[in-house]
Amino acid sequence: MLKLFNTMSRQLEDFEPLNDKEVTFYSCGPTVYDYAHIGNLRTYIFSDILKRVLLFDGYNVKHVMNITDVGHLTEESEQGEDKIERSARMEAKSALEIADFYAQAFKDDLRKLNIIEPNIWCKATDHINEQIELIKKLEEKGHVYKTSDGIYFDTSKVKDYGKLARLNLEGLEEGSRVDVNIEKKNPTDFALWKFSPQDKQRQMEWDSPWGKGFPGWHAECSAMSMKYLGETIDIHTGGIDHIPVHHTNEIAQSEAATGKPFVRFWAHGDFLLINEGKMAKSLGNFITLNTLPENGFDPIVYRIFCLSSHYRSKLNFSWEALEGAKNTWLRLKRKFLDLGRQTGEINVLFLEKFKTAVNDDLGMPQALAVFWEVFKSNISDFDKHATLLEFDKVLGLNLAELKEEQAVIPGEIMKLMEERKKARENKKWQKADELRKKIEDLGYEVEDTAQETHVRKK
Ligand code: AMP
Ligand code: ZN
Repeated sequence: MLKLFNTMSRQLEDFEPLNDKEVTFYSCGPTVYDYAHIGNLRTYIFSDILKRVLLFDGYNVKHVMNITDVGHLTEESEQGEDKIERSARMEAKSALEIADFYAQAFKDDLRKLNIIEPNIWCKATDHINEQIELIKKLEEKGHVYKTSDGIYFDTSKVKDYGKLARLNLEGLEEGSRVDVNIEKKNPTDFALWKFSPQDKQRQMEWDSPWGKGFPGWHAECSAMSMKYLGETIDIHTGGIDHIPVHHTNEIAQSEAATGKPFVRFWAHGDFLLINEGKMAKSLGNFITLNTLPENGFDPIVYRIFCLSSHYRSKLNFSWEALEGAKNTWLRLKRKFLDLGRQTGEINVLFLEKFKTAVNDDLGMPQALAVFWEVFKSNISDFDKHATLLEFDKVLGLNLAELKEEQAVIPGEIMKLMEERKKARENKKWQKADELRKKIEDLGYEVEDTAQETHVRKK
């Protein structure tokens, strides 16, 4: 049985779904105003591992992920510009073009990292009615009030507001003097619906019972989670930064609307750091997945890098550390291919050991250690092959494909690769570049690393 750390109780708990064999699972998705950075992607790798462990344990998982394409403002205080509209202005495109472009880029990133797609993708702008209905319900129950710029949720009406983050509300009360939004009754109150500004034309706005405007960011996750998964769900994931505001507010508004617990297990991944500090778009210190191949790294190396630490520990990114993950990947690949293509039996002892590791709050470093133990053991290559392929259901390194891919490189390409290698050894760079072009024109791509060169089908 899976033991999972629940942020709500701050404890490891035995996980069991509410409904027999199906796990209802919601992940806060990206705000699509820019490329995701590899910090964001660490959080999605963590969710993917959690989902794969549940599948490995024999559950069906119904996984929903939202795409935030409206309402996420540049400032936490419910002020500032809509992030999507700001990008649209800066890139001279429509809000829809911006959202579509970066949503597609995000899905491409997930694919490159072997992250299993959710069963349902849902966009905030496709669910405006659901959000309005939620706000109407809260209004009927007396949980909202109106200010000059929108409809706000009154957090003082909720007895256990802030329970997820264990917020000290009195401390916040004192800090409220710096809050720029003077019409808010409590510093923790948040916008459910924002009115369109008088002096500026918004690209995205809708009619509502309260006036023309757009939904606040938190409303979408509650409305869409309830629509697709029900009023109480099993698991909700995100990064730790979401605990004090976004998830706290999702809980407050959902539970105020339904009177039922919103989520049974809150699972949060810790941050990816860079130079020991937070990686964030707003700090301008971020790296996107596209920069990895440009620096000689297969994106899957980043997955291995993330697997090497526990999801609830901070992880410091550096190119040197990534080099370590790359060497692990190259070694692992070579050893796996050396096992040959025939498959035997899954070794039950190793399988048990692996299961124990992954079910202990996703102990991926331990699970990887079992992976290497299998290589070193004296079981047959066939059985090693079968056992490691089974482990790969959780690790998600796509080992089965790797084999085929390597096997189908035609002789003609291998010959060109050999010629190119010689040219490089003799420092005939122009010739090497011509050969690379030739290989690429035949539909293959070449990747050079410090130690070796890889070729694969585009
Ligand atoms: P956003 O697109 O800003 O809504 O963020 C998408 C996801 O990435 C959220 O779950 C965040 O909690 C998470 N996130 C943001 N920054 C980091 C980071 N440096 N490391 C890990 N996760 C992060
Ligand atoms: Zn969310």
